[in-house]
Amino acid sequence: MEPLKIGVVGCGGRMGRMNLATIVAGEGCVIGGGTDLPGSPAIGSDLGVLAGGEAIGITVGDDPVELFARVDAVVDFTTPEATRRHADLAAQAALIYVVGTTGLGADQQAAIERSALHATVIQAANMSLGVNLLQLVTEQVARALDPDFDIEILEMHHRHKVDAPSGTALMLGQAAARGRGVDLDGVACRARDGQVGARPRGEIGFATLRGGDVAGEHSVIFAAAGEQVVLTHKAGSRAIFAKGAIRAALWGRGKPAGLYSMRDVLGL
Ligand code: NAD
Repeated sequence: MEPLKIGVVGCGGRMGRMNLATIVAGEGCVIGGGTDLPGSPAIGSDLGVLAGGEAIGITVGDDPVELFARVDAVVDFTTPEATRRHADLAAQAALIYVVGTTGLGADQQAAIERSALHATVIQAANMSLGVNLLQLVTEQVARALDPDFDIEILEMHHRHKVDAPSGTALMLGQAAARGRGVDLDGVACRARDGQVGARPRGEIGFATLRGGDVAGEHSVIFAAAGEQVVLTHKAGSRAIFAKGAIRAALWGRGKPAGLYSMRDVLGL
């Protein structure tokens, strides 16, 4: 079988470079091309060098239309607006489209869902095996414990992260809400400041920390009078997200159009 040709959009970014390096190190796939924002310092760089290795003779471009037309799969860790545009191109090209971008608004999410009518879309706010397991366990624990257990989700990320709470924290909040049989939007408290009053029963709270170079830490805390259950995942490096993203692209080969999650990819 021919190796899967993977394009990386946003390839000058933190995750973009990690995705390139993971393709180079992986089996069954090759770098098919890469783009970044017009004017970005990455434009014109050799993709192999950006991946931290030897030059491969393909440079970073700024035209996603051209990229989507000549690869088998695209991996997207960019910004919500860029992802909306890429989702339309993925539908036109009917390829494998792996979306890791977080902080999407309702319109941007709707674009992903439309794209999945034609493309094989794998979307996850967190591509790591550990967090997808944590999501599963969170749902089970929330189902097992009664609402006397207050649920709080604590996350910490590096100082450059632009959205809060993290997509992963929201994904864990959704898992907890599902376990409880409630809608997260109806019970979420995404931040607290000032005279907010006592904590309502059944609330799912979020707390956000930012600093340094933390790749991602998440804890789901179930706190009752006299006892706590705390489930924690710590990402030591972004490599785990890239590994998941490239695994998802390879998994998508031959799959019909549709919207899939990392739980589908990992068989959880
Ligand atoms: P980053 O800022 O380092 O990289 C983003 C890159 O996208 C930059 O190089 C930027 O120039 C580029 N970009 C912006 N608009 C573009 C466009 N229109 N076309 C092409 N490139 C464009 O950010 P990052 O830390 O790599 O994170 C990127 C996204 O991935 C964030 O939303 C983050 O939350 C998310 N993320 C998801 C996971 C996961 O497992 N799903 C893991 C880590 C990060």
